[in-house]
Amino acid sequence: MIASDAWKHSLGVLAIQGDYEAHSAAFAEVGVSTRPVKTPTELAEVSALVLPGGESTTMLRLLRRDGFDAALRDFVHARPVFATCAGCILLASEVLHPQQESFAALDVTVERNAYGRQNESAILPIETTLRGDALPDEPLEAVFIRAPRIVRAGAGVETLARRDGYPVLVRQGRILAATFHPELSADRRVHQLFLQILATQP
Ligand code: GLN
Repeated sequence: MIASDAWKHSLGVLAIQGDYEAHSAAFAEVGVSTRPVKTPTELAEVSALVLPGGESTTMLRLLRRDGFDAALRDFVHARPVFATCAGCILLASEVLHPQQESFAALDVTVERNAYGRQNESAILPIETTLRGDALPDEPLEAVFIRAPRIVRAGAGVETLARRDGYPVLVRQGRILAATFHPELSADRRVHQLFLQILATQP
């Protein structure tokens, strides 16, 4: 865990659409308070950000309407970010099925809604490949809801867990991204992992 006196970050949760409250509750459970971020001014007041799950097309539309997208693009190219599901779609370098604009901060190609109608939602035990404090050997419970599939991960992207051979939890330096919803499980290891990453970031 992070000693509170060593905690130098102000963690925001993008709160314009989607399950942002579940992320705030998840971080509260591990003793970290978060701030909702709805405007560029609020974004300027945080040092790290969570991009929640939801509907990426709707998020993009709302971001553009408020002229918030440019500030957010700069932020995700510079600061620590934890993205889940729709958030991962927003960060990707390429979005397919259908194609969609994205911030290109995470070197992956994602296919939206890739599991089809039958498998739209699933709760699966997922083996992680990372050993250590945050993700010890026990499988993670992964909640998939109309999830994207990471069909390509660049050389700088570390895959920490897979489903059917495809990455579902990835790290690229200061960015952690999941195609599932760790905030909807009781298990807080993925949130703890992000806090560990954050502790190493200026
Ligand atoms: N299917 C959604 C999208 O394309 C993502 C779903 C989610 O975040 N649970 O944006």
